[in-house]
Parts: sequence; C-alpha cells; structure tokens
Amino acid sequence: MKNIGILIEAENGTLKSANLGMITLTRAAGMQLTAFVVGVSVSAASADLETYGIARIVALDLTADQQQNPVVLAKVLVQAVRAFDIDAFVGLSTASGKDLLPRIAAFLDAPLVMDCVAIDFHQGKARTSQFSGKTLATIEVAGDVLIFGIRPNVIDPVPAPVTAEVVSFEGRNLEASGFTVLQTDKVDETARINLAEADVILSGGRGMGNSENFGLLYQCAAKLSAAVGASRVAVDSGWVPYPMQVGQTGEKVSPRVYIACGISGSVQHFAGMKTAGLVIAINTDAQAAIMSNCDYFAVADVLEVIPELTKQLKND
Ligand SMILES: Cc1cc2nc3c(=O)[nH]c(=O)nc-3n(C[C@H](O)[C@H](O)[C@H](O)COP(=O)(O)OP(=O)(O)OC[C@H]3O[C@@H](n4cnc5c(N)ncnc54)[C@H](O)[C@@H]3O)c2cc1C
Repeated sequence: MKNIGILIEAENGTLKSANLGMITLTRAAGMQLTAFVVGVSVSAASADLETYGIARIVALDLTADQQQNPVVLAKVLVQAVRAFDIDAFVGLSTASGKDLLPRIAAFLDAPLVMDCVAIDFHQGKARTSQFSGKTLATIEVAGDVLIFGIRPNVIDPVPAPVTAEVVSFEGRNLEASGFTVLQTDKVDETARINLAEADVILSGGRGMGNSENFGLLYQCAAKLSAAVGASRVAVDSGWVPYPMQVGQTGEKVSPRVYIACGISGSVQHFAGMKTAGLVIAINTDAQAAIMSNCDYFAVADVLEVIPELTKQLKND
C-alpha cells in the first residue's frame, strides 16, 4: 500500500477544519497523500492542504447540481480512486461522509470501517467504537482498496508543510439513474456552528422543558462561540431539528468541552459524546447517570444557570 486518497469536506465554499485532523492522522502512515476536493476552489483550499502535508490535490470537475447528488459524487470518486491508483480512501464520519463513503465502498466492492479513531494503514486495521461506544474494536480489513470514515476532531491538527501538485479530474457517464435530488434545504440558522466540528457544545435535553427555552442555550452559545446540540427527547418533542441530535442515532461529536443541560446521560446519548474532552453536567437530580460520568457537575436548575452564565459572559 502506498497511496492514500482523502476526501476533503467543504461547507459554504470553505474547508471544514475537521479535515486537518483527518490529514494529520492519515499522514502518520508515511504514504503519498492525494486530496480530492469538491465544493471549494483549489485556490481557497490549497494553502491549508499544503500546510498539513498534502502532496497532490485533485480538483473534481463537477457542476453545482452534480455536487449535490451523492450518487454522482460517489461515481466520480470511484473513477478517481482508480485513475490515481489509490490503495486506501478516507473521509470524515460526518453526515455527508456517512452518505458518501458506503456508496463508494459498494461501487468498489471494498471493505469499509466507519467512525474510526485510529488507523494502521500498513496492517489494514482500524480502531472504531462499537455497541453505542461501550467497546472499542480493532477491525482488520483486506482488499484492493480499503475505505475508512474518521470520527471528526479525534486528532489535533499538526502542520507539516509541503508543496502540492494540482490536477483536475473529470468523470465520465455520471448520470445517477434512479436517484434525483429534488430540493436542498439549508440547515436551520440556530444550528449553524457545525456540531461535528464544534470546539464547545451546549446540549439540551428534556430538562429544557420546551423549544422556547432552547433560546437560552442559543444566547449562551453565541457568547461562547459554541454549537447547540440536543438529546433525542428534545428532538422527538419537536423542540429542535434532528441535525442537532447527539447520540447513537444522531451526530457523533468530540468537542473540547461538552455541557449537558437537563440531560440524564443515557447510554445512547453517551454513544455520541463520550470522546468529548471535558464534560460538564447541569441537572436537578444528583443521582442522574451523567453526574457520575462527567468531569464537573452542578446540581441546579438549568433554566436559572444558563441565563446567569450568559449574563456573566456579557459582563466580561
Ligand atoms: C435505539 C435507540 C436510539 C437512541 N438514540 C439516541 C440518541 O441518538 N441520542 C439521545 O440523546 N438519545 C437516544 N435515545 C434515547 C435515550 O434512551 C434517552 O431516552 C434520551 O437520551 C433521554 O434524553 P434526556 O436525557 O433529554 O431525557 P431524560 O432521560 O428524561 O432526562 C432529563 C434530565 O433532565 C433533568 N432535569 C429536568 N428538569 C431540569 C431542570 N430544570 N434543570 C436541570 N435538569 C433538569 C432530569 O433530572 C433528568 O436527568 C435512543 C434510544 C433508543 C432505544
């Protein structure tokens, strides 16, 4: 194995910062790194990619409509993987990574491991969380091309500057028969700091009481430059949209700080945030599961603590 392909994710025309940790993790293998770039101009992306050690940048030549269609994207990436002789292909385990990487694996008939926290490319082994995060498994895979989804933010980015060769790649026969994107909606403004990449997350659960009270979290989050997440109860109650859900069936997050507000700490919720650096819980029940599974807790009413915290931050 000598060539690793990396699918670079962009949002609103800029690189997501989680790419840089993914590149750092991948670079440790000491192999040639090829970044596949879509949704951002190479001129906007190349400085960062070169700074973190990408030696070859491949700009995928797609129309805006084609970029929105995961089947088309998967097809062009499969062609690029073959054209550039890629042995292992990695992307982020984000919502779009989860949409795209399994399609690529299916087209290539290649093994896929998602949600990896470490990868040994030489031995084809990946470490990944299993059973809602209760265990960490080491999975060994074999094949002509190995595909891995990397959990965002598990590795701190470390620069290693190089100069990259830039090439463009145009796919052939890219029609996506049987799959049409009818409409693409922008995510709710309130969820605008991407959960998967956030450094700090304020998450609300049943203890928030209603959707209006989530406004308290948005105000506080704005002061902390934090993202706002939620438990499934808050989502199922219709207080916040599904993209904000953290957990087994929601987003997997690894922020530096995770503040759980009125969340009991179910196994399914922990499955999404157990790799957070520091966990702080605010809960009226000192016996709630999260209280014995966090770094700091306050036995308090979140509807009092959060407005007070926002006020204190305002006075700074
Ligand atoms: C297959 C499956 C998948 C699931 N996937 C997910 C998932 O992805 N994410 C997820 O979150 N859940 C998931 N769940 C649901 C999970 O089991 C729990 O039901 C859910 O996490 C509980 O949400 P909660 O902590 O907000 O609510 P609760 O468990 O009801 O806890 C509410 C907490 O708020 C506290 N509280 C109440 N009022 C206040 C107040 N004013 N101030 C401070 N604290 C207060 C209470 O003491 C309590 O501890 C899943 C379940 C299943 C079966």
